[in-house]
Amino acid sequence: MRGKLVVGNWKMNGGLSSNAALLEALAAGWRAAPGRAIAVCVPFPYLAQAQAMLTGAAIAWGAQNVSEHSSGAHTGEVAASMVAEFGCRYAIVGHSERRHIYAETSAGVAAKALAVLAAGMTPIVCVGETLAEREAGATSDVVLRQLEAVLAVVGAAAARLVVAYEPVWAIGTGRTAAPEQAQAVHALLRARLAAAGAAEIPLLYGGSVKADNAGALFAMKDIDGGLIGGASLQAGDFLAIARA
Ligand code: PEP
Repeated sequence: MRGKLVVGNWKMNGGLSSNAALLEALAAGWRAAPGRAIAVCVPFPYLAQAQAMLTGAAIAWGAQNVSEHSSGAHTGEVAASMVAEFGCRYAIVGHSERRHIYAETSAGVAAKALAVLAAGMTPIVCVGETLAEREAGATSDVVLRQLEAVLAVVGAAAARLVVAYEPVWAIGTGRTAAPEQAQAVHALLRARLAAAGAAEIPLLYGGSVKADNAGALFAMKDIDGGLIGGASLQAGDFLAIARA
């Protein structure tokens, strides 16, 4: 049976003292159970703090991005190997904010996924369509194309990925995909992953997940948990989602 996974994406939020309160509350409030896991993906400067506060707490941590390059003249970039030194289990790649605000291409996202794998971590590969693409009936094409770019380079390591379906129109908007709508895309992604030998990887849904809609989403056959933005900044909300 596939396990459940809920990952918080803090985005560019936080500060040392508010992080400490949040991480302390998460560590105190989360009880590990077989087949259920949670993690937080924090801004780079807070990886050391997450490592210090979460070691031994059954909560994993990770980064929100990495460079596709391993070292050298890339001012301002952070290599996957550097992030791995802080004990990260995960790194998000291809979040829609990176694709749309920072013009990341699917080829670049694939290179980042490869860099994360090479550093011994698990890439959380985000895919998702814009509202215009959904309305044009292009959802399947868009998400499969985004996934395909990654599968083409990772080969058998597809079985080590986490994939998150995040419809762009649902991220930070308060507009969530209906559970059946999300399930339909997850089923499509699952079928493609199965063909790549990766049927059992966690397939997360992201986009305005809250404590009151998480249960219905996570009850869907192919939804193994969530990637949570805004609601991961409050311990009570995030834990309630994780418990759902
Ligand atoms: C996200 O940032 O990945 C996300 C899903 O954000 P939110 O939960 O705030 O929509």
